[in-house]
Amino acid sequence: MSTLFCREGSVFGGRLEVHWIKEKESCCGGYLQRDFLRMSYEVDKRHDKIGIKEKTVMIAKKMVKYVEGSSVTRAMFEEGKKMAAEFGAENVYDFSLGNPSVEPPKAVAEQMKKILDERQPNFVHGYMNNAGHEEVRAAIAKSLNEKFGTAFTEKNIIMTVGAAGGLNVILKTLLDPGDEVIAFAPYFSEYNNYVANFDGVIVPVSPNIPSFQPNLTEFKEKITAKTKAVIVNTPNNPTGVVYSEDTIKELAKILEEKQKETGHAIYLLADEPYRELAYDGVEVPYLTKYFANTIVGYSYSKSLSLPGERIGYLVIPDEVDDFHSVIDAAVVATRILGFVNAPSLQQLAVAQCLNEATDVSAYDRNRKLLYDKLLELGFECAKPEGAFYMWVKAKEPDDKAFVAKAKEFHILMVPGSAFMCPGYVRIAYCVSPEMIRRSFGAFEKLAEAYR
Ligand code: PLP
Repeated sequence: MSTLFCREGSVFGGRLEVHWIKEKESCCGGYLQRDFLRMSYEVDKRHDKIGIKEKTVMIAKKMVKYVEGSSVTRAMFEEGKKMAAEFGAENVYDFSLGNPSVEPPKAVAEQMKKILDERQPNFVHGYMNNAGHEEVRAAIAKSLNEKFGTAFTEKNIIMTVGAAGGLNVILKTLLDPGDEVIAFAPYFSEYNNYVANFDGVIVPVSPNIPSFQPNLTEFKEKITAKTKAVIVNTPNNPTGVVYSEDTIKELAKILEEKQKETGHAIYLLADEPYRELAYDGVEVPYLTKYFANTIVGYSYSKSLSLPGERIGYLVIPDEVDDFHSVIDAAVVATRILGFVNAPSLQQLAVAQCLNEATDVSAYDRNRKLLYDKLLELGFECAKPEGAFYMWVKAKEPDDKAFVAKAKEFHILMVPGSAFMCPGYVRIAYCVSPEMIRRSFGAFEKLAEAYR
């Protein structure tokens, strides 16, 4: 059990509001910690002194740490809502969260209605194979083969609860305690938690500035006999960078060499929720074609603007080492992680929408609008070729201080340290173009503050 200490307590309307913190710890930027375990107690008027000083926490020690370090991005989002209430929504420029602003294609809702109207209800709403509906998996395999010249069948596809569900399934499938998983900074910080879920060890590779392509020299040095997997996310959150074909070829070559050296497979996990969001005709290499031990995690959260519906899939090609065991274990992992199966109606709906796409041109317009303005104001940005994020160099070494300065002008963005890359900030431009235009004055003031 962990003991928390009372940092501050104040009486509001007959109640005592207490903020609990772990002793002498200070992390993650003050505002997060202030919210850590805020409790409210009835004040007993018969006692002139309030004797609460210590409290025993019953949640797991691991969870105390997670709650404390809870997502900076989400905390920013909450902050944005508070600021909108105080200053008026039109005067707050919230670029903190990667929630699609483009509506799902109309066909998605139409197909859902059609399925509900026309198909047998117990089929639509019932249990199925833990891997997902066969017809859906077969349709996805066929569509991938048409797009990428692959030769998948339904046995290579496992439907998942988004990309996050897919990553947890495959990490549970692969990791023994102490196994290492390499990720290239900056990266989506949930990878740290997903790897820790299965007692793995995340091994970050430092950022390659200014291109933000993976740093392959350091990558090579960080592969050890314990390396079980490498996560690659392209188009990338948070940089918007698309890893080039040359980078992928070189990365595959290193993995081949290291597999020979260590005598076992190293799985390349391609986390692809942003695959369809690429601009200027940039090609996003399909990684199974470059390295046999590739497992792809896909999601419809961004490609069809369905993040709340929690639907995606894993591709486990025949070529991966120990294919049958990996597939069988991933199906069991889907069940025993408590997903049981991906949402049935959503599976059936996406299978009817495989040729549908979100309106990428809307994000592209936002990208150009913001990028041009930021460059004009003297900000330095990584070349944003994909996803809906811009990765901007902070105007001072402390990215959190820069984020705090931006907040003074009502601009909300996420510090790069939340992605294991201090000195930068992430701006999510999946917002309305009107908000981007309204924010220009605030960005001008921010640039001015550093002149
Ligand atoms: N991976 C990356 C890089 C992401 O940015 C996200 C979500 O933003 C996810 C995975 C999780 O996606 P999903 O909503 O499909 O679970």
